[in-house]
Amino acid sequence: MTEGFCKRCGTCCVKGGPALHTEDLPLLQQGAINREALVTLRRGEPVHDNVSGAIVLLTEEIVKIRWKVSSWTCAFYDSEQRSCSIYAGRPLECRALSCWDTREIANIYHRGRLTRRDILHTPSALADIVAMHEEQCPVGQVDENARRILSSGGSDVEAMGCLSALLARDASIREFLADRTGANRETLEFLLGRPLERILPMFGLRVNRVGGKTTLIRDDSYLEESSRVHNSSSSGPTSEA
Ligand code: SF4
Repeated sequence: MTEGFCKRCGTCCVKGGPALHTEDLPLLQQGAINREALVTLRRGEPVHDNVSGAIVLLTEEIVKIRWKVSSWTCAFYDSEQRSCSIYAGRPLECRALSCWDTREIANIYHRGRLTRRDILHTPSALADIVAMHEEQCPVGQVDENARRILSSGGSDVEAMGCLSALLARDASIREFLADRTGANRETLEFLLGRPLERILPMFGLRVNRVGGKTTLIRDDSYLEESSRVHNSSSSGPTSEA
């Protein structure tokens, strides 16, 4: 084993917040981390697995600490002080990560990850809406229809229609939930994951609105940028691709 110590370089905190595990549940129950600080990455979303270094599709959802706007920096990282603002109550992955010896994080990385079901009170009307959204707006259908659209060069009208309907359904459920519960954008991103329109570029497409007309167009920029970011520095806790 190579001896080392934390130099507080912050590298592990600027590559996306950690995914949460069973051991982190008390932090949520005690209010040390609230729901607005969380984001759900849903089954079927591509993510950068920092242990294997590969981009993989999630086979189960994960709940993460959200990152700051326009960067992958963890929401709890204080860039000026170069420190964690919840250091004493930081999640398991952060406590397990030693960049000079990644064996401990590799050991816990895929084990006991929290899901929304673990966090929400069940049964409840809110949990029912979350389950209904998962059933009616699965990320896998974005992937499937995007592949068809891209492989047909945009001529697969049926896939275009399916994807457009999916995006509209997702937006409508979000609006409904916000109206009924007063949930803000951040809380909705924990409850329902990120809007499908926002994750669409991860599958090589984006929504284009010009002069009142909405179309789906090819867009490779997201994956190119993600690949550049993740290839340019060393590993941290779970990061989105
Ligand atoms: S919770 Fe703290 S230690 Fe963990 S990634 Fe965020 S800033 Fe870094």
